[in-house]
Amino acid sequence: MGRLRFVPGEDEAFPVDADTQFNDVIADPKGRVFGGAMLEADELGDRYLTTALTDGDRSAEGALIRAPEVGVARVPEFHSQIVVDSAAAFSRLGRRAETRRPLRAAGSPFDAARPDDESHRTMLADDRNERMRGLTKVSRSRGAMELVDLERPSPGPDEALIEVDYAGLCGSDAGIYEFESAFERMELPTVIGHEYTGQVVETGPDVTRFAVGDRVVERPIRGCGHCYQCQLGEENVCQNAVITGVDHDGAYEGYVAVPETALHSVPEGMDPRHAALVEPTSIGARAVIENSRVRPGDRVFVAGPGPIGLLTAQIARSQGGEVVVAGVGSDTAYRLPLADEFGFQTVNVEADDLDSRRDELTDGVGYDVVFDTTGHPSGLTSAVEEVRKGGQIVLVGQTGETTMPYSPLVRAEIDLQCSYASMFEDFERSLRLIASGDVDHATFLDDRFSLLEADEAFEAFLAGETCKPVFDVSVLRD
Ligand SMILES: [Zn+2]
Ligand SMILES: [Zn+2]
Repeated sequence: MGRLRFVPGEDEAFPVDADTQFNDVIADPKGRVFGGAMLEADELGDRYLTTALTDGDRSAEGALIRAPEVGVARVPEFHSQIVVDSAAAFSRLGRRAETRRPLRAAGSPFDAARPDDESHRTMLADDRNERMRGLTKVSRSRGAMELVDLERPSPGPDEALIEVDYAGLCGSDAGIYEFESAFERMELPTVIGHEYTGQVVETGPDVTRFAVGDRVVERPIRGCGHCYQCQLGEENVCQNAVITGVDHDGAYEGYVAVPETALHSVPEGMDPRHAALVEPTSIGARAVIENSRVRPGDRVFVAGPGPIGLLTAQIARSQGGEVVVAGVGSDTAYRLPLADEFGFQTVNVEADDLDSRRDELTDGVGYDVVFDTTGHPSGLTSAVEEVRKGGQIVLVGQTGETTMPYSPLVRAEIDLQCSYASMFEDFERSLRLIASGDVDHATFLDDRFSLLEADEAFEAFLAGETCKPVFDVSVLRD
């Protein structure tokens, strides 16, 4: 009762539960409804969803579930199972013509999805290793990252098991490498990494929105769902938030098990190396779109040409801002030239005369919006120098301690806004910003590094010799 199961694979068909009905609805991945579904009996008497009929019934109550081929099947909640012969459905829709494969032995797809079901495991695990390696923080000192042999996790009832394809290196991963104070709470050993993409290879029995074969990304900050902020829908500032790759094992490993509520679908055709960077993109998206007042024609100053700075800059430009990116001497090796490559005006705050650059670029007025992504104690004080009277400062980097006179902020009515982490909407927006090209990950990512020699990547990152390393995680399944 009330449970939806959906275990699609390429052109596979699935048995339909006896009380599934003819007027269920199929829609494509964008949620456009094709029409009512028709069930057919095959020679064994099992029924399969095979086609879509007239314009759909959008009022049908139910839940949405995704399937790679058919897209979304929508069924009333009282139906216990659904099913799609995706190839047949699509061929009738004129999308593709494929022959139907023989069906698996009788039994519901729900049963087939149980992790303890033998045939299911065989189907999924045939060519997959039960063991894997993970890049693990092993002790409370600088470096101390080791590749450790691990058992492949099993998904819990509401979890999907994800085979990780690519994962990015983030400033906070570098913070764990250096073992900064913010990470003292970590229990070790812990596999790190939180920005990644992969493919669902197994699902727990209660998973309804994702299926084997789906490409996904994870929202790595998870709210508890119960505290006051979670009740308000502010799970990024949950009182009990846990973070993947910090509070539990992360993505620098062959497989991760993740609650389906933390997953987002990756659109078909997106380069997985680009999809791996949805999480950092979402930080910039939240800072700019949710938390700043950048409008078309605004002059925007982004302090810090690190990963979050360059993403914030691109997204501010996508909103119509004229963006200047500022860095320091050590950024001239890689990050400021990268900002140049993106087409931003750049400033070296250690070499250039900031006052005259600001006057030249803003007609002597100052910037409408300043984003501080430096993570340096000077971030706020220098933002105050750059912002115009009546302008806005958005603090994204975590800058530690600073001392400054506040009266000038008050007298200039500066809007001081913080932006922390990201939420569901920021992820969905980021996927679209990447797909549209507003955020250019082909230029952004750096795939020169390997997880097998990860120290090189961390040292290069800390020295400013790279900006956004992206690792091929498949090496941890070899
Ligand atoms: Zn990150
Ligand atoms: Zn909470």
